[in-house]
Amino acid sequence: MYALQISSHIILRSNWTATRRMHSTLVRKLRRLQLLKENAEQCVEVLKSSNSKFVLFYDSKPLMTKSGSDLVVALKSLQDLQEKFQSCDEILKTSVLLYNYDNNKNEEVFAVEIPPGTEVKDDLGEMLSGKFVTPRKALMLVSDRDIGMLSQAISYLHWHGNNQFCSKCGSRSIKTPSGSHRHCSDCKTTHYPMTSPVVITLVHHGDHCLLARQPEFQKNFYSALAGFCDIGETFEAAVEREVAEEVGLEVDNIRFFSSQHWPFPASSLMLGCHARLKEGTEQKIALDKAELEDALWFHRDEVKKAVLFQPKHFTKTRTDKMPWFSIPPPLAIAHHLIKSWALN
Ligand SMILES: [Zn+2]
Repeated sequence: MYALQISSHIILRSNWTATRRMHSTLVRKLRRLQLLKENAEQCVEVLKSSNSKFVLFYDSKPLMTKSGSDLVVALKSLQDLQEKFQSCDEILKTSVLLYNYDNNKNEEVFAVEIPPGTEVKDDLGEMLSGKFVTPRKALMLVSDRDIGMLSQAISYLHWHGNNQFCSKCGSRSIKTPSGSHRHCSDCKTTHYPMTSPVVITLVHHGDHCLLARQPEFQKNFYSALAGFCDIGETFEAAVEREVAEEVGLEVDNIRFFSSQHWPFPASSLMLGCHARLKEGTEQKIALDKAELEDALWFHRDEVKKAVLFQPKHFTKTRTDKMPWFSIPPPLAIAHHLIKSWALN
């Protein structure tokens, strides 16, 4: 008994020490990133150091490389870029400091873009030992570790590309080396990148949940309801409004589930939530046909099947166990929202 107490004590103390070490490493890393965001000179120094790594974009496509049978985000050094490009300084001017990287490594990661008009060879990807892949495809392929970093890089570069001029006075604005904001060269206004909050809602009623499809979805593909928050709305109010507008129903008991950043169409913060059909209110769906092609109540057993049989498991030979519809893949927050309800 005594020995057990001693060993428990040691384990607890050891866990506590490890947790404290992990926290202090994370805090140190985040504070260093904060400093680099605010101090242009230090950021440039880090940008041009041999420790830094670069995610390279060309024509808005990230460079990917093979790792075993997988494609991963290619991380290049400054030396790699200097060897391959005469216009390396022009590429470095597009730098954006990324946060979502392995916090235990003592290196900073920047996204950089080969500027439009740069003369490049046809086999540029090959020359860099990789391949430029469309952003959507790249996000489908990368590991969980890289998905946040890549999503952030795509959004930042997109925002800088579309915000070269001050929205207040029209003068050219200047990107800071970290890319966290831009300064107007004339009226001195500081501009920060914008993220649009989007509510994505799974409405349920007893053992049924509501899934809908937009006309552009692939055949028999259904998902949760989604829509942008309006200015001045809470996320709960946005859920109530979106559900009312799109399917003509009233909901309550709105609960936040989790969130995900998504870089399309620009930069969205997806707020996944559950909502319950309000008791005593209309259950019949009144579809907004300008937004949706179809919306249906699905039984929990059907949804379970769809969760368990993801598209990669589909074969040409259909069995009774396969559902007639599919839901979003695990990459999307909608998948986890639906799964959490179906397997509950
Ligand atoms: Zn201005």
